[in-house]
Amino acid sequence: MNTAPHLHVSAPPPVPLTPLDPWTAALVRESTIRPVSARAVEEFQLEKLRSVLAHAKENSPWYARHLQGFDPGHVARLQDVSTVPLTTAGDLREHGPAMCCVSQDEVARVVTLTSSGSTGKPKRVFFNKQDLEATLDFFDHGMRTLVESGQRVMILLSGPTPDSTGDLLSRALARNGVDSLVYGLVQDPLAALEQARQYQPHCLVGFPVQLLVLARLDAAWGTRLNPAKILLCSDYAPDSIIKYVEREWPCQALVHWGATETGLGGGVECLAQQGSHLRQADLYVEIIDPATGEPLPAGQWGEIVVTTLRRQAQPLIRYRLGDLGRLLSGTCACGSSLVRLDKVQGRLSQRPRLANGHVLGLALLDETLFRLELVVDFSATLHGQGLDQELRIRLKAMQTKGRESFDPLRYRAQEMLAALPELQDTDQGPGPRLTLAVLPWDGEPFTAFKRTLTHETRP
Ligand SMILES: [Zn+2]
Repeated sequence: MNTAPHLHVSAPPPVPLTPLDPWTAALVRESTIRPVSARAVEEFQLEKLRSVLAHAKENSPWYARHLQGFDPGHVARLQDVSTVPLTTAGDLREHGPAMCCVSQDEVARVVTLTSSGSTGKPKRVFFNKQDLEATLDFFDHGMRTLVESGQRVMILLSGPTPDSTGDLLSRALARNGVDSLVYGLVQDPLAALEQARQYQPHCLVGFPVQLLVLARLDAAWGTRLNPAKILLCSDYAPDSIIKYVEREWPCQALVHWGATETGLGGGVECLAQQGSHLRQADLYVEIIDPATGEPLPAGQWGEIVVTTLRRQAQPLIRYRLGDLGRLLSGTCACGSSLVRLDKVQGRLSQRPRLANGHVLGLALLDETLFRLELVVDFSATLHGQGLDQELRIRLKAMQTKGRESFDPLRYRAQEMLAALPELQDTDQGPGPRLTLAVLPWDGEPFTAFKRTLTHETRP
């Protein structure tokens, strides 16, 4: 007779294998083994790495010069990729069209990226039909973590023009029998909430801040939305926002990682929520020391560098994304050994060093300020250099009935920020002075999708 019948009771339910695993297995032609072996994936990546190097060198005038004297045949192991020269956003800005490997007739879509604050040329990213097909395929399989046939997804991303992110996602979902509403970016949260209440999506996809404002409004007026899943994309996904939406709706909020340069999609979390499983048949992701360019091992934070392994129109080879990230090693709780990328911590260029020796990042402000129940958005500016620094923060907060003053919120925000070790005085110097303003947000046009942290060096 079994005398220990309760031992299994507390075991957590098993996490289902990410659907990206069998998908990748099929792409790397290892469809019989589950989960896919890291070795099979790496062998496929090595083969594709050699062919993308040859393709770029042969067909793009810019890469022919950039890779001059480099023999793709000398890449014997994946690690040898570190001998290939890096490319930068500046290269893409200046030479984007010359990085193309196909004729302009073959280009199906061009995404033009103008970065705020930069006065230079925009970046232009080119895709042909096959490139877009690869993205559709990734969206289709990645979304199977979140929804199944017969369910509904509300997409709060750019759309619905043909081949916009929203349109591609919607078409990918249709392949799996999932209905979708491409709403576009939220400018009027009240109108978006009304549409969501009518549509009753099983899943919402959007920028973290945009989903936060919908969740806050829905909660304020008696929750009527009931999504089971949320997909946070295109920006740092603060734990403070994840916890809030998971509690309010209640749902499971997963993180998607990607950039236009990665082909819009890049990786998505499985239900274990322990980092985004990467689209490894299409992308080779490295982390480098941003100062020296040296490759860093899994677990260490550094700059994310991507190589597009199957991109036809405009391959990107060891392209520096400018974002701070790290790879997670080991097998995921879902059983997959597909490489995972931890939550990206934001732009390296938006991390000013403070007089006290600490580095200030948006992620830290996100985690602190979005814990305050009424806050829907903020902007931050660090003024001055040396020992005289001032951090000015403008919070946007929802107004609630009977609240005459935002003073309590301002005091609380001030208190929470002042308690952060990163903002306090150290042996190296003083922490920045804090100036906080709270502005009411009462439903006026809402353009927030990415917070900014700027550094004004002039007083
Ligand atoms: Zn997993």
